[in-house]
Amino acid sequence: MKGLIIAIDGPVGSGKSTLARRVAALLGYTYLDTGAMYRSVALKAQRRGLPLDSGDKLSALASETRIDLRQMDGAADGTQQVLLDGEDVTAMIRTSEVAQAASKVAMVPGVRKVLVAEQRRAGEKGGVVMEGRDIGSVVFPDAQLKIFLTASPEIRAERRWREHQQKGDAIDLARTLGEVHERDQRDRERASSPLVRAEDAVVVDSTAMESEEVARLVVLLAKEQGGGRAT
Ligand code: C5P
Repeated sequence: MKGLIIAIDGPVGSGKSTLARRVAALLGYTYLDTGAMYRSVALKAQRRGLPLDSGDKLSALASETRIDLRQMDGAADGTQQVLLDGEDVTAMIRTSEVAQAASKVAMVPGVRKVLVAEQRRAGEKGGVVMEGRDIGSVVFPDAQLKIFLTASPEIRAERRWREHQQKGDAIDLARTLGEVHERDQRDRERASSPLVRAEDAVVVDSTAMESEEVARLVVLLAKEQGGGRAT
């Protein structure tokens, strides 16, 4: 059976990664975290000391960058390994500093063009759950199933804050909430592929739902579209 393309978009901390990984595991699909690609380009730009508003330089940088997203051996939750030009940057791209830089790099149309082309190549055969901000609106506007995942800003900030706590990052909740607002605003207001809900996306508010409940709902919707387990 040919697998579907499932697009999951939504703001920071809405639970996209958890959902996308779980749905991919339940359906036997490939999971692809497009945010990791923007984060990787941002990390490389920071290392080179490139100004994050320099569109031409960032676009050139993106086109000479190789990003590989791989299933991690033994990671039951489907966590991906991220290789930037062959170097494992999986943990390094998860800091709040890189997150902020990624949302600036993501404003550059030339960077988006390069990464969107790679995302289309990676997903065109189907059997994929792709998460980001513009998957249903730009990358795969014909995706058979589009989910727009959302949750209240307070819950989203709290989730992000807990993730930082677990990693031992000393960051307070108020600052996390501020950063979430800032990143959301940049993602929603940018001229190039802003975060919008595709007209035909199913809106799911995860504020009061368990993540497993959300995943089961999405699998049900996928099955309605004819997307059973990939074979
Ligand atoms: O999803 P994640 O928080 O890892 O994404 C990091 C940043 O990359 C986002 O804040 C957003 O600015 C950008 N991004 C994007 N389009 C995507 C995925 C991520 O603009 N498809």
